[in-house]
Amino acid sequence: MKEKHPGTVDVLVIGGGNAALCAALMAREAGASVLLLEAAPREWRGGNSSHTRNLRCMHDAPQDVLTERYPEEEFWQDLLKVTGGMTNEKLARLAIRESSSCRDWMRKHGVNFQPSLSGTLHLSRTNAFFMGGGKALVNAYYRSAEALGVRIRYEAPVDRIELENGVFRAAWVGDERIAARACVMAAGGFESNREWLREAWGQNENGEWPADNFAIRGTRFNRGVLLKAMIDAGADMIGDPSQSHCVAIDARAPLYDGGICTRIDCVSLGIVVNKHAERFYDEGEDFWPKRYAIWGRLVAQQPGQIGFSIIDAKANGRFMPPVFPGAKADTLEELARQLGIDEAAFVRTVREYNAACHVGTFDHTVQDDCHTEGLSPAKTHWALPIDTPPFRGYALKPGITFTYLGLKVNEQAAVHFSDVPSPNLFVAGEMMAGNVLGKGYTAGVGMTIGTTFGRIAGAHAAAAARQGESHAIA
Ligand SMILES: Cc1cc2nc3c(=O)[nH]c(=O)nc-3n(C[C@H](O)[C@H](O)[C@H](O)COP(=O)(O)OP(=O)(O)OC[C@H]3O[C@@H](n4cnc5c(N)ncnc54)[C@H](O)[C@@H]3O)c2cc1C
Repeated sequence: MKEKHPGTVDVLVIGGGNAALCAALMAREAGASVLLLEAAPREWRGGNSSHTRNLRCMHDAPQDVLTERYPEEEFWQDLLKVTGGMTNEKLARLAIRESSSCRDWMRKHGVNFQPSLSGTLHLSRTNAFFMGGGKALVNAYYRSAEALGVRIRYEAPVDRIELENGVFRAAWVGDERIAARACVMAAGGFESNREWLREAWGQNENGEWPADNFAIRGTRFNRGVLLKAMIDAGADMIGDPSQSHCVAIDARAPLYDGGICTRIDCVSLGIVVNKHAERFYDEGEDFWPKRYAIWGRLVAQQPGQIGFSIIDAKANGRFMPPVFPGAKADTLEELARQLGIDEAAFVRTVREYNAACHVGTFDHTVQDDCHTEGLSPAKTHWALPIDTPPFRGYALKPGITFTYLGLKVNEQAAVHFSDVPSPNLFVAGEMMAGNVLGKGYTAGVGMTIGTTFGRIAGAHAAAAARQGESHAIA
C-alpha cells in the first residue's frame, strides 16, 4: 500500500469537470497546493461539462454577448417555476448573483464567449455561449490550472473517502491513500451507473426494466461512487434518486457521450407515435425549449421505451436537423415499413390526426391557433396535416442528461452530517445541484451552479486547509 504523507496536499479536488476545475483554480489562486483526481483518461476528461454550450447569467444591462437585461428577480422566478418550489432560495440567489460577475474570472482563465445561435431557443438574452463549446472551456481551465501549478492525475477514480466525525482525512484510489487538509468533491451525478438507474426506475407493468433502454447523453465516468459513499457515511442528502433530466434522443445514439447533436427537435412540428403507432401526448403543448425535457420520460413510459417523431416536408428548415438523417419516404406506408411499425395502424393514426387538424395561421414563434379538434390526445398548437411528401421519421429513445440526487450544502458548499457542516469537506456541481434545482431544468443553469459552487468550494477548502495547518502548528 502506497501512502502519501498527510499534509503534502492542501486541497484535494475529486472530479475533472467544470465544478472541479473552478474549485481547483480558486483554491490554487488562494495559495493552496492542489491535486485534482479525474477518473477519465486525458482524452475523455471534462465530464458532462465538455458537452455543454452555455451558462445562464443574470445581468441588469446588456453585457458583451448578452442582450437586453435579465435581472435577478426574473432569473429567480424562472427557477421557481421550473422547480415547482423545490429550491433553496438563499443558495439559488447566491448562484444567480454570482452569475453576473463570474465571467471576467472565466475569461482570465481562457474561456471565451460568443453570441448565441439564432433560432428556436431564444437564449441571446439569458445565456452566454462558450466559444468552442464546453470542450474548449474545460481545455482552457486545464491549461490554466497546469500553468498555475495544480497537479492533475487522470485515470484516478476515487472509490472511497476516509472520514473521522465528519472531518475529511483521505481519499482512496484503489489501494492508494491520498491524504489532504481539505477536499472538494465534484464528481457528477450517478447517470452513468446503469445498475443504479435500473433500481431507481424499477420494473414497469409489462415486466420491462425501462432504464435498460436508456442512453447516457454525457460521460460514462459519472457512476455516483462518491454519492453512494456519502450516503453510507451518513451525509445529509437532497433530491429524489428516481428523478433525472431525461430527453428524447435519436434511438441510434451511442450508449455514452452522444452529446447534444443526437437530440431530435422536430416533435412540435409533427406527431409522435409509439411502437403500436399510437399518439400518446400533446406534441404542441408549449414551446419546444420548455418541453423537450419531458419527452424522455414520456418515451420511457411507452412499450419498449421507443417513440417515432414523424414530420412531412413542410417541417424542413424549421428545426435544427439531427446528426443522423431520418427515415425518408414518399408514402406513409413506406415510412412505416422503414421504421418497423405496423403500416395500417400508422396510416390510420396519421389520417385521423390529419382529419382533426383545424388549421389557422401557422407560426412556430408563437403559440399559434393551429390545433386539433375532437382528437385524444389533442395537439394544441402547430397542428398541420402530415400530407406533403417526402415524409420523415426518427426513432426516439430516452437519453439521461443528469440525475438530481445530491448532498445538502450551506453557503460555503460544506457537506453536512446530521445538519452539522464538515469543517473541511466541500462539494460542488451536479453532486449538490439538487439544492438549487430539485427538479425540472432551465437551460444553462447546470453550469451556473457548477461555476458558482465550484468557486465557493475551492475558496473555502483553501481557507480550511490553512486553518488546519495553523492548528497543526499551534
Ligand atoms: C449533452 C449535455 C449537454 C448539456 N448542456 C448544458 C449546457 O449547455 N449548459 C448547462 O448549464 N448545462 C448543460 N448540461 C448539464 C451540465 O453538463 C452539468 O450541469 C455540469 O457539467 C455539471 O458539472 P460537474 O462538474 O458537476 O460534472 P461533470 O462535468 O460531469 O464532471 C464530473 C467529473 O467527475 C469525474 N468523476 C466521476 N466519478 C469520479 C470518481 N469516483 N473519482 C474521480 N473523478 C470522478 C468525471 O470523470 C468528470 O470529470 C449538459 C449536459 C449534457 C449531458
